[in-house]
Amino acid sequence: MSAIDTLPPLREVIATHGLSARKSLGQNFLLDLNLTAKIARAAGDLQSCDVLEVGPGPGGLTRGLLAEGARHVLAIEKDRRCQPALAEIAAAYPGRLTVLEGDALEIHPLAHLTPPIKVAANLPYNVGTELLVRWLTPPAWPPFWQSLTLMFQREVAARIVAQPGNKAYGRLAVLAQWRSDARIALQLPPEAFTPPPKVSSSVVHLEALPAPRYPADADVLSRVVAAAFNQRRKMLRAALKGVTPDLEDRLRAAGISPTERAEQIPVEGFCALAREVAKT
Ligand code: SAM
Repeated sequence: MSAIDTLPPLREVIATHGLSARKSLGQNFLLDLNLTAKIARAAGDLQSCDVLEVGPGPGGLTRGLLAEGARHVLAIEKDRRCQPALAEIAAAYPGRLTVLEGDALEIHPLAHLTPPIKVAANLPYNVGTELLVRWLTPPAWPPFWQSLTLMFQREVAARIVAQPGNKAYGRLAVLAQWRSDARIALQLPPEAFTPPPKVSSSVVHLEALPAPRYPADADVLSRVVAAAFNQRRKMLRAALKGVTPDLEDRLRAAGISPTERAEQIPVEGFCALAREVAKT
């Protein structure tokens, strides 16, 4: 019998430790261990990796990651009530699970992790988006992580993998596709969660590229893309006003017509523009 089988079912864990879901923490739990194993497998081979898990809650995905052979899991959870449930999992997998209590937006986990590192999380979507942008925009590349396997609302997931010309194409698509291969690994209906959220969800898997697809400074690219899509219906000569002097010249030098709109510009074009803007 594997260690996962010696632990009580998640419904029992939730009842024993009084883990009623809190909306304020975005708590929609995954209680089906077949499903959490499937998400863990979407992260790829975990055998020789440390895994950073953000928001383990009662530990369904944590159990999946450990059962799938993760060398070590570092889990960061904000809700103190989850600690006893997570301590039971740590006891079932001696030396393989470390739990930190706190806000993942404030904790720097690297001191507790040994490369190669993969990230897996089922988080409230606003925290997930903020972390995703941070993980995609460090000044240097490659980053600390090899891959990210993250749950999002279905429309946020669509924004990460969207192509130019699509309504969902925007800042997340450009930043994700600039430095990683991003794809949707799994689709989940609301009933997969307890309690069910209002919307469907998707697991997105991003593999870090060894080097960015095109050269650009991460800060400048983020600034240009944010401004371009902030007013996505406007022509770039209007949307990007204030980003750089000589805007129209910079756009032309990057091979972009000033009358185009952000939605039409591929990642390569935004990187060319970021290089032009960085010259000013
Ligand atoms: N991973 C568990 C699962 O799949 O059942 C729980 C998922 S639930 C959607 C999100 C979890 O993230 C909750 O346990 C919540 O307490 C935790 N959380 C929310 N905001 C957080 C933050 N800023 N830092 C760390 N954990 C957070």
